Amino acid sequence: MALPKVYVALDYQTREEADNLVSKLPAGKVGLKVGKELFTAIGPDWVREKVDQGFSVFLDLKFYDIPNTVAKAVTSAAKIGVDIVNVHASGGTEMMKAAKEALKPFDKPPLLIAVTILTSMSDDDLQEMGIQLSTTQQVVKLAKLAKQAGLDGVVCSAQEASMLRKDLGSSFKLVTPGIRPADSDAGDQKRIMTPEAAIDAGVDYMVIGRPITQANDPATAATDILRSIGE
Ligand code: C5P
Repeated sequence: MALPKVYVALDYQTREEADNLVSKLPAGKVGLKVGKELFTAIGPDWVREKVDQGFSVFLDLKFYDIPNTVAKAVTSAAKIGVDIVNVHASGGTEMMKAAKEALKPFDKPPLLIAVTILTSMSDDDLQEMGIQLSTTQQVVKLAKLAKQAGLDGVVCSAQEASMLRKDLGSSFKLVTPGIRPADSDAGDQKRIMTPEAAIDAGVDYMVIGRPITQANDPATAATDILRSIGE
């Protein structure tokens, strides 16, 4: 079954807040993105519960460690039953290959997605770490490395999507935050794109938080977004 195109970012610290929002979402139509904040607060049992309720889950823990540890971590994620899991491409080819290899025994392994360069980082930040390429050049370099290592796709900004789609081919998945419907607040997101434009740019899966979680009526906000992309 195809994964949902929209994953709602559950940026909460308590089970009550997360459950309250999830109860308002159109079940089966949107996925849930669980990141470090919620996972560290309430853990894998809650995630398993949502999987058992039929939600597709993107476990956004951005693993980065030695190959053996990352391989074990993605195995644990697959056992929870999540559909998408991610690692930092800067962990290197050996680490990414070990993670991919570890998922092979699973009947329905999660998509293994790479994070390239965090969008909070500038060219100056890279220079400070001894990386002379621009952030864009480094994003492309790491995305290619991820593809060569057998990963299924990358997290990228909507602005990078068409460039990466061109460089990496049609089956490489692009997962994108920073999405804002035309009538919603940008918040702290600087380079935003509407859901329709993101689809046109080649994005496969969108991570959308506040336009849904902070809406007066999250169900309608989610449904409107889905309708705008023909879902
Ligand atoms: O509320 P909003 O739609 O901005 O939420 C976007 C989600 O995607 C948040 O969980 C945020 O941490 C995450 N994210 C992001 N930009 C990135 C990587 C992740 O906004 N570059």
